[in-house]
Amino acid sequence: MMELYKHNALEIKNLIIQKKVTAKEVVEDLFRHIESIEPQIKAYLTLTKDSALLQARAIDEKIAKYQKLGLLVGIPIAIKDNICTDGIKTTCASRLLSNFIPPYDAYVIKRIKQEDGIIIGKTNLDEFGMGSSCENSAFGPTHNPHDLSRVPGGSSGGSAAAVAANTAFLALGSDTGGSIRQPASFCGIVGLKPTYGLVSRYGLVAFASSLDQIGPMARNVPDLALLLQVIAGYDRQDSTSVNITIPDYLSHIEKDVKGLKIGIPKEYFSEGIESEIKESVYQAIKLYEKMGLKIMDISLPHSQYGIATYYLVAPSEASSNLARYDGTHFTSQAKDYQGLRDMISKSRSEGFGKEVKRRILLGTFALSSGYYDAYYLRALKIRRLIRQDFDQAFKKVDVIMGPTSPISPFKIGEKIDDPLKMYLCDIFTVTANLAGIPAISIPCGVTQNKLPIGLQILGKPLDEATILRVTRALEKIGK
Ligand code: GLN
Repeated sequence: MMELYKHNALEIKNLIIQKKVTAKEVVEDLFRHIESIEPQIKAYLTLTKDSALLQARAIDEKIAKYQKLGLLVGIPIAIKDNICTDGIKTTCASRLLSNFIPPYDAYVIKRIKQEDGIIIGKTNLDEFGMGSSCENSAFGPTHNPHDLSRVPGGSSGGSAAAVAANTAFLALGSDTGGSIRQPASFCGIVGLKPTYGLVSRYGLVAFASSLDQIGPMARNVPDLALLLQVIAGYDRQDSTSVNITIPDYLSHIEKDVKGLKIGIPKEYFSEGIESEIKESVYQAIKLYEKMGLKIMDISLPHSQYGIATYYLVAPSEASSNLARYDGTHFTSQAKDYQGLRDMISKSRSEGFGKEVKRRILLGTFALSSGYYDAYYLRALKIRRLIRQDFDQAFKKVDVIMGPTSPISPFKIGEKIDDPLKMYLCDIFTVTANLAGIPAISIPCGVTQNKLPIGLQILGKPLDEATILRVTRALEKIGK
């Protein structure tokens, strides 16, 4: 019964339900695999083997007693370490929160537990979600399973690497400007940023609240749809949560896609994209054409301002959200100080990493009196125009396609000293967050060096079902 870890999530669930394996065997087998390759990958900040085994035993008892089983029965799941887990350290990969143990579960964690999913650990990220390579973690970088000398992307790089290395069957990430989709693309897996408001942010440590969304990461679309099913839905503890009936995503994904219209924005194929990526994405689009979808050229004229707008809005919100870390609660406190001001200043200086400080400075500047109108307010106006571009486009097409990232996974250390270059990695992903629309990344090929390439598919607000269906169609012919 070896190598259970190679199965997909739905397969493992079925094996458990059919009593071909026990949840305990699955967890034990997975941890054997984790122990053998995690030292090279470093996807996890915390592993919770003991509590995972306890959960597995409880599930096996339920099965033995023929009790009602949840949607995720027995599936081991990894959680990005900026999502609060009751009794389990939640560090945000920050020195400042290195000993923070939340006294409650985030909404999504509560849902996973209700549906009998098994939490196996907390994954590495760029500190507070700020970065595109997982190198901004206070606890060291994660390595890309496809090439250990390269980054897994970020900020949900730990979650992506764990799913790709088969050290988790499913994972949760968070996406403020691409942090689910870009690492999914770099690690050759599927990752979805849901519509803003579809998944509750209760218990997600805030980075930029008007952009943040939690989303699922998986090895294939059916697995991803299953996890989305569990975490989507109204939660009164998040005032931006939308109250709608959640469709049955799994039943949608196998439906025919013929006749759907794909918009190809000319702005997504400009200069600066690696030619192999362009080529791969075009090939995927051709495959869709063969499947009977209609390809249409469109324009999203304001997307050229996406990066500038995002890097004003996100740091502004971050500077406000991170003000709570003052050395008095949640966090580690500086040892030597004189008076309150000095304590706060030293705790923050010692606790935050370089990139987080840079964002706080940027955001505080953009919000300061005299500059507010010129920067923050103007960014908000452009944000509206970016959304209007999408609204216009979606009058004509069902989905929009382009590359997830302009570049393939780069070497660890290659961009860490050049923040602007790092920010440019997010050029195709930030607009979905600014507009609040759903977007997914799905593998569509590899480079000559065998590094994964991701295709991004964007959809209408709350139309995850169509995105998943279109994504599944490509996955099916690729296999
Ligand atoms: N890479 C982007 C940033 O650094 C996006 C991060 C995210 O989505 N959390 O802000």
